[in-house]
Amino acid sequence: MEYKTTIGLEIHAELRTRTKMFCTSKNDPEEKKPNVNICPVCMGYPGTLPVINKEAVKHVLKVGKALGAKLADFTEFDRKNYFYPDIPKGYQISQYQYPLVSGGELAGVKITRVHLEEDTAKSSHEKGDYSLVDFNRAGVPLMELVTEPVIGSAEQAVNFARELQLLLRYLGVSHANMEKGEMRVEANISVSKTDTFGTKCEVKNLNSFRTVEKAIAFEVARHIELLEKGEKVIQETRGWNEAKQETYSQRSKENAHDYRYFPDPDLPKLKLSELPEFLNPELPELPEQKRARFDSEYGVKAEDREMYIFDMKLGDFFEEVVKISGDKKLAALVSNYITSDFAGLQKNNPDIDPFKNITSENFAALIKMANGGELSSRGAKDTLAIMFKEGGEPQKIAEEKGLIQKNDEGELLAMVQKIIAENEKVVSGYRAGKEAGIMFLVGQGMKASKGSANPQILKKLFETELTK
Ligand code: ADP
Ligand code: MG
Repeated sequence: MEYKTTIGLEIHAELRTRTKMFCTSKNDPEEKKPNVNICPVCMGYPGTLPVINKEAVKHVLKVGKALGAKLADFTEFDRKNYFYPDIPKGYQISQYQYPLVSGGELAGVKITRVHLEEDTAKSSHEKGDYSLVDFNRAGVPLMELVTEPVIGSAEQAVNFARELQLLLRYLGVSHANMEKGEMRVEANISVSKTDTFGTKCEVKNLNSFRTVEKAIAFEVARHIELLEKGEKVIQETRGWNEAKQETYSQRSKENAHDYRYFPDPDLPKLKLSELPEFLNPELPELPEQKRARFDSEYGVKAEDREMYIFDMKLGDFFEEVVKISGDKKLAALVSNYITSDFAGLQKNNPDIDPFKNITSENFAALIKMANGGELSSRGAKDTLAIMFKEGGEPQKIAEEKGLIQKNDEGELLAMVQKIIAENEKVVSGYRAGKEAGIMFLVGQGMKASKGSANPQILKKLFETELTK
């Protein structure tokens, strides 16, 4: 039997609220100056009292509803006791017995629970033989989501984390930026050849999707190697060393009883059943719903659709352009220009705000010109590039640059006749059966018209003229 990999994830996300979890200090993850958004409560001074932030509770309940989970009707906060400089009270306020949310599912992965807690301060150790502590982050509302051990591969783990990030953003509850530490992933990994789970290791501090994937792959290989040598996996917490691209042992696993959890006597218990608006929050359109709607409304390629799901602004832009163009049959064409040409311009011009110069009205006008044959696909691309960099209406730009495609057969006929007269050899070759010669003649026509002739019409004209 092959080794089977089992993974369970624990994901923390900083919530977007005006103030912190238990005090009125500002919750501003963008604040660069250390220790400005602080007060006696989040500094852990003796004699201060915490007050629950309603907005944070609502955010977690929204997540619960979106996961199809059970929302608690009774909940409380507990103290998780441990000593570390980033937690000056000597305990973190978290939830143990009664999480706000239980069960639910996302991207095929069963969720165990989602609870609410406070973030710790941020320590940095890189400056020399001392450490610095920044309390701006202390007390920021933090949700923790725990999955069941049902994930079978590193790939599936990353996919789940991406879907969760997307969901949190759609719900507006977290920016969930991994690079900024707004979303942090811990992966529990074990391997086994039998139906019984193997011993797990937990890898912490994974701050990008790539490191999640690499750390899991590394652990799976490490476990298998140990077991193959007849050795045992030791249950422990490990970190990720980016320079060495490997995990390393941090400490042996602590148990829940080490934390001496107990209900925080400073905070009231919550009976959410008495607050119906908490238990039935309104949700915006969620990623899965948007996927289904895009498939039925526009039928664009799955690849394009995913671009719109992950880049909400681009998705909104696409929908607006289709709407203004007034014809859903143009959706595929709109999508081609957005996902290849427009996205390409975005990528090559990172300094230009992509939505600054191009309006959805002008984009829709461009699509109509391309669809109606007034612009060749080359001409449309060139016009779009100018619109992207300088703005402006496609009709004007295309006229100015001589990009309007000539479709008028009468206008093109004289040129076609002239080319036929000038290329006797190719013409007689064509008449004798060398059909490829026609493309040479069309090419001459494109050259003579400086690219403005419609090649399909040119080809048709040559064919009729030469069979006369
Ligand atoms: P602990 O008590 O050690 O914290 P939990 O049962 O609370 O362990 O689970 C923590 C996380 O580890 C969860 O995401 C869970 O799905 C995952 N997990 C539990 N057992 C295993 C295992 N054998 N292999 C992989 N992941 C596991
Ligand atoms: Mg646990």
